[in-house]
Amino acid sequence: MKKILHIGTGGTISSQNSGEGLSPAIAAQELLKYCPDIAKYCTVDCIQLLSLDSTNIRPAHWIMIADAIAENYDKYDGFVISHGTDTLAYTAAALSYLVQNSKKPVVLTGAQKPIDEVGSDAIRNLTDAFIVASDDNSYGVQIVFFGSVICGTRARKNFSKSFGAFGSINFPEVARIQDGRIARFIYDQMPEKPTFYSYLNPNVGLIKFVPGMRNDVLAYIISQYDGLIVESFGVGGLPEYSDFFEQIKKAVELGKLVVMTTQVPSEGSNLSVYRVGTQLKNHLNILEAHDMTTEAAITKLMWILGQTNNYGEAEKLFYTTIYHDILYKD
Ligand code: ASP
Repeated sequence: MKKILHIGTGGTISSQNSGEGLSPAIAAQELLKYCPDIAKYCTVDCIQLLSLDSTNIRPAHWIMIADAIAENYDKYDGFVISHGTDTLAYTAAALSYLVQNSKKPVVLTGAQKPIDEVGSDAIRNLTDAFIVASDDNSYGVQIVFFGSVICGTRARKNFSKSFGAFGSINFPEVARIQDGRIARFIYDQMPEKPTFYSYLNPNVGLIKFVPGMRNDVLAYIISQYDGLIVESFGVGGLPEYSDFFEQIKKAVELGKLVVMTTQVPSEGSNLSVYRVGTQLKNHLNILEAHDMTTEAAITKLMWILGQTNNYGEAEKLFYTTIYHDILYKD
């Protein structure tokens, strides 16, 4: 029987009413009592690493989770992390960069309703997470939620209330799980040996353009960060009515890493289509997210900036596919 480590971090799944709204209260070990079927698939040890609404989760917490996996890696066959749904996609992406080439599954899950609420999705999600973590064909970082098994670099919270909250962006779901059975769509070659990282540069910002964006807003955000993700429109580009191009040029000259992406939910960017994009692509050392999610682009930039500020090295790392995070690159 497989041996799985359950790492509790909080979230709605473990929440109870505090008198001022829901807040994490039920311990990792306690959560298992609601899910007796898990015992059919694996034995479980628990650690309560955090007890946070995931609104409060920050890069330092991602490192704590990755370190806990690294420390316990040899003792377990897989890992389940119960987590709030609000920033679950960010944590999954961050862990995909911090724990690479893990043949042991690292499965994140949560719930839209607390586990002790009648009709909650928590029992199904948690049970499914342990089934996926115990499966011989699972590997790497994944989210299991409402029957979907999603690659850690490809998830997004698309619905704030529905049970089917998560989607897989620009990439198919890895598998579906229904009534304890896994229907797997993607079989990868199993990685051999994991690589753990325990440093991120959290100084990465995101700016979403709006029509009529003020140039001093971009200037300010550039001044504050080492890396910047720019969510522009459509397949990508920068408005020409102000000095946005000059500002990005200056940022690049200062050694900052700039990633251009799109605020359109699906299909990604292609800066080479319109003059507003080719200007950037052809004349500046900027990076392009293409089909990557914004969550993956942000956390990958934090991981890269934790290792280098050199554009050439960063470019190479950024366009290296890590756990299916980027398909198109040029
Ligand atoms: N606010 C909660 C959290 O992210 C929401 C949830 O878990 O569904 O921790």
